[in-house]
Amino acid sequence: MGFKSRARKFKKTKDDDDEKNSVIVPENEVKCAIKNCKNFADKHLGGRSIGRNKVLEVWNKSEFDEIKGRVKLCKKCYRILKKETKDSKEWV
Ligand SMILES: [Zn+2]
Repeated sequence: MGFKSRARKFKKTKDDDDEKNSVIVPENEVKCAIKNCKNFADKHLGGRSIGRNKVLEVWNKSEFDEIKGRVKLCKKCYRILKKETKDSKEWV
């Protein structure tokens, strides 16, 4: 008896998940501005928006896209930038 009720409960949970998945819109939609990078720069993934001058210290102008002087970087590229510039006190 205990097993049966558990199995039913499990099935219900699964159905709920399926319903959810059909409604949820993928949140990964901010592409990293570095052109040869395929990662996403969404905030919940650790992405950052960095001033173009900082990005220019690591990448060439032709290697990234900027929006109003800001460059969206994924977590990976942000770490590269931080490592390359090593003056994190100057900017956040
Ligand atoms: Zn990237």
